[in-house]
Amino acid sequence: MKDKKVVVIGSGIGGAGVAALLAKDGVKPIVFERNAFVGGKAGSIEHEGCLFDVGVHISARGEKGPLAQIAKKTGADVAFINKSPLLRLNYGGRDGLIYQKMTHPVSLYNIYRIVRPSIKSLLGMLRLVKLVYSTKTKKDAQPYYHIPAKSIIDKYMSDPDMQTFLDICCNLMFGISTDEASAGDFLLAFNNWITSGTTAYPKGGYGAIPNAYMKVCEDAGGELHLNETVNRIIAEDGTVKGVESDKGFYPADIIISNASVVKTLDMTGDQHFPDSYVEKARNAIDSVGGVMVKYILDAPLVEIPMTLYTPRRFSVPDLIKDLGQGRMPDDMALFIVSPTVTEPGLAPEGLHLLYGGTVTPARLDKDLSNEVMDRVENRLEKLHPGLKEHTIWKERSDADVIAAISGRGHGDAIGMAQRYDQDADKRFSPRTPLEGLYIVGADTGSFGIGTELAAQSAMETHALILEDTAGVHQAT
Ligand SMILES: Cc1cc2nc3c(=O)[nH]c(=O)nc-3n(C[C@H](O)[C@H](O)[C@H](O)COP(=O)(O)OP(=O)(O)OC[C@H]3O[C@@H](n4cnc5c(N)ncnc54)[C@H](O)[C@@H]3O)c2cc1C
Repeated sequence: MKDKKVVVIGSGIGGAGVAALLAKDGVKPIVFERNAFVGGKAGSIEHEGCLFDVGVHISARGEKGPLAQIAKKTGADVAFINKSPLLRLNYGGRDGLIYQKMTHPVSLYNIYRIVRPSIKSLLGMLRLVKLVYSTKTKKDAQPYYHIPAKSIIDKYMSDPDMQTFLDICCNLMFGISTDEASAGDFLLAFNNWITSGTTAYPKGGYGAIPNAYMKVCEDAGGELHLNETVNRIIAEDGTVKGVESDKGFYPADIIISNASVVKTLDMTGDQHFPDSYVEKARNAIDSVGGVMVKYILDAPLVEIPMTLYTPRRFSVPDLIKDLGQGRMPDDMALFIVSPTVTEPGLAPEGLHLLYGGTVTPARLDKDLSNEVMDRVENRLEKLHPGLKEHTIWKERSDADVIAAISGRGHGDAIGMAQRYDQDADKRFSPRTPLEGLYIVGADTGSFGIGTELAAQSAMETHALILEDTAGVHQAT
């Protein structure tokens, strides 16, 4: 591997993660990043002396998940700050606290008390919980691939409030609803999330993770080219030859693209891939997007890292449908994170950060986006009295902002959706049909939640590259 010229296109969690793993093998990857900062959707940006996340982030498995696993393998300086209670759940006006371990008896009691499902649904619910508990591995999830999560949930219970709660959890994990999400992925990710008890926020902000990975890469002699966009991947006779950026040509034996499956095809040219591969990629469906409002406050208005606000029996599919048809719903679910509750170092003393966001289609008309953000602000003001008076700076961002940062062409939150028709063997492998070309990131992760899906992909991509390189060495 040491003699291989390796180029990585993009420094999201996937790109930065695989660059660090390869750097530990003695490779000196050259990483191109079109933005001025590392991390893509999981990056951090400085405003007004505070460090803001690009998205609204929390790591589902924290120190027990793949983000930490990459750090352990590479020596990257990544640390998670555990905080419990972690979540304030507000469903239909009732609220209560959920511990870091969602299966803590107080958490379970509070979920029951707040969501208040019917007594007659209890037995079915317990059986569903048992199924989630027993789905610990991909093998356990196997019988539930290629079917929607909702079909499994419906089999166990029909309580509309508990169905809403599970659908909101599904949207938090995958950016899609239970009617579209893979049942296998849902059961496995939900198991991993609720039983880990380590859901957490990273020290130094979310961008500290990809930055720590890139530091490993650079310390080992790799290069980071910020503000440099790769425009073309050059291939000849079924093998990659190098990349052309806006600054020049770089020869490469191995190219790892973090720019999504579709953008990788655009950069390379469809003619280098089998028709079936191109057709599958061009018809693939991404997760939904979102809008966010971010505040710097001069008072600590919240004490709990996350809040999940959901109107009673709120339907995310209806929200997406309504917005897609230009209709504005009365109220909507909000995911609220105050990263300074966990990591005060993100803002100067006396200042606090608060983010609130909701889901929208990955492409949304500007006027409608603005109206959604008005609703988000109004709801946040109701949930946090004094918000207006204590705001010293605020920023609104919509799906277009996410699209501009990720470079994917639209503002999907996660990547290629973990749908029932795109799961397990139907997901894209990091290994492409073009020799020497790999795709890393959420699009090619085999399982996990958001950044953890991208980190999982980084480890899987790394393993495949080692396997392929060993194969080449054996053959020569
Ligand atoms: C609002 C929001 C909330 C979220 N909440 C959570 C959460 O709570 N928990 C969680 O785990 N996940 C969450 N996610 C999802 C998570 O951020 C993503 O799934 C993950 O970061 C995707 O990582 P990635 O490596 O696939 O790619 P990306 O982050 O998309 O990175 C791709 C990188 O490649 C670069 N690039 C692309 N093309 C080129 C090119 N041609 N040349 C050079 N560079 C290029 C881009 O600039 C970018 O930096 C959220 C996302 C959003 C938007």
